[in-house]
Amino acid sequence: MMNGLYLLELLDPGYYAQPAATDSRPWNILIYFLPVLLIIVMIYLFMSSGRGAQDARNEAAKFGRSRARLITPNRPSVSFGDVAGVEEVKDDLREVVEFLKDRSRFQAIGATIPKGMLLVGPPGTGKTLLARAVAGEAGVPFYSVNGSEFVEMFVGVGAARVRDLFEQAKRNAPCIIFIDEIDAVGRVRSSGGPGSHEEREQTLNQILVEMDGFTTNSGVVVLAATNRADILDPALLRPGRFDRRVVLNLPDTHGRKAILEVHAKGKRLDSSIDFGAVAKETHGFSGADLAALMNEAAILAVRRNKTSIGMAELEESIDRILAGPERRSLKISPRDKELTAYHEAGHALVAHILPNVDPVSKISIVARGTMGGYTRILAEDRYFMTASKFKETLATLLAGHAAEELVFKEISTGPHSDMKQATSIARRMVTDYGMSEKLGLRTYGSEGVSGYPAGTAEQRDYSEEIARQIDEEVYTIVKQAYEISKRIITENRDRLTHIARRLLDLETLSGPELNAAFNEPISKPPADPKGAPARSG
Ligand code: ADP
Ligand code: MG
Ligand code: ZN
Repeated sequence: MMNGLYLLELLDPGYYAQPAATDSRPWNILIYFLPVLLIIVMIYLFMSSGRGAQDARNEAAKFGRSRARLITPNRPSVSFGDVAGVEEVKDDLREVVEFLKDRSRFQAIGATIPKGMLLVGPPGTGKTLLARAVAGEAGVPFYSVNGSEFVEMFVGVGAARVRDLFEQAKRNAPCIIFIDEIDAVGRVRSSGGPGSHEEREQTLNQILVEMDGFTTNSGVVVLAATNRADILDPALLRPGRFDRRVVLNLPDTHGRKAILEVHAKGKRLDSSIDFGAVAKETHGFSGADLAALMNEAAILAVRRNKTSIGMAELEESIDRILAGPERRSLKISPRDKELTAYHEAGHALVAHILPNVDPVSKISIVARGTMGGYTRILAEDRYFMTASKFKETLATLLAGHAAEELVFKEISTGPHSDMKQATSIARRMVTDYGMSEKLGLRTYGSEGVSGYPAGTAEQRDYSEEIARQIDEEVYTIVKQAYEISKRIITENRDRLTHIARRLLDLETLSGPELNAAFNEPISKPPADPKGAPARSG
């Protein structure tokens, strides 16, 4: 939970948004024509299937069958060795593997294995991979369906398919049924809205009926995956259904290193590679992101005519995944470049000086994607945050803004996302973590009421008066952080200018160069740019 909050990649979208738009013209064309194409396809489908109600019903029945027959089991060759950094989860699943391999041992002693297990975790953390690995380890058939497949146009088709699926599975036991993205069918049943969810609900009911209808001894284990366990219908989670839960989190530094090593298999690496260092720089990456990172680096090595992947390719790929490819062809005026340099130098300087902010690992003013530049913090694994860490994080987020104001006497459109992030952190300090002295130790806004975006009136468990106070507190916290930022920058104005100068010279600072920019003696204070930059918008 905390991992996600303590992002602080400090990426700055918003600069140069204009050129980015004109540059992506091929996409625009696609986007304009896509709806037209879709309409043509739909008209065609309608024409070819418009044959009266009876026909349609037959079609529906056939549809249910034929699709169900398509659910052919496969026998995954994946094993637990292919899944890294989730040791506890593997331990939990090992008993399922043992059970599938040899049921009689469990039966002899009277032990039952849960029928259903729910794999919960953010996208890309290896839920699907793990389910396949369980089947692979046990050497049993794997029946896999996706929750969204059930949401079809004909009522009853989904339920028929579920029936078929379980029938086939029971005939081929021991085996695994895997329902991916179960939230697509398994969300809380609607409380009487316009009857548009009928199909989904019938499918869900059928899943419940099937799960109640077989005994564990039949040797079928149902695994399901979701990233939204909070919206699942409670009926799904009752004993005898998906009563066992396995949680997958984004990997920590150790986990990331292990995952990188798994995906390094079969790739040629040179001796410069240090996965420990890469793991430290990829805070917040999921397993899928890391797999993509390794592949991107391999492609880059080919494009650079190298025979093996080096650290340089991995570093470049991290930047690409975080911020998009470099856009060197972009014509950026010297003024804008200067503004970006001071903005990023502001972030870096304040992060460097404040004691509770993780170290800065890289500053860059090379335009990437829609970003003018960025400052990267080497975020550490942390399991809790303190109020002072939050406050210093806020000051760091607002430092780009503060540097612009102090140097150029004006604020550009750049730091927009910084402010957004800062505001949302400040709000959570007040409403979720009880870090406001005025409002005290309680949470505001009822958790668990799903379906409404946070902070909407439906979710509130506090009065209008409290709402106003929360807003005030958020404002005060952000303002105080901004003052800290401005003070640090004012007191270290020469250092700010120095870092910005080095950035303008080298475009990217990391390692020894970054260290030097922070620490080397400043010979003579160079002049700051004068006046406000000529910018529009
Ligand atoms: P999810 O189903 O949780 O969204 P997937 O299982 O589809 O995630 O993961 C996508 C890909 O990411 C996998 O095929 C694998 O290449 C990689 N991956 C994810 N987690 C891990 C992990 N723990 N170890 C190794 N590879 C992983
Ligand atoms: Mg998946
Ligand atoms: Zn910024």
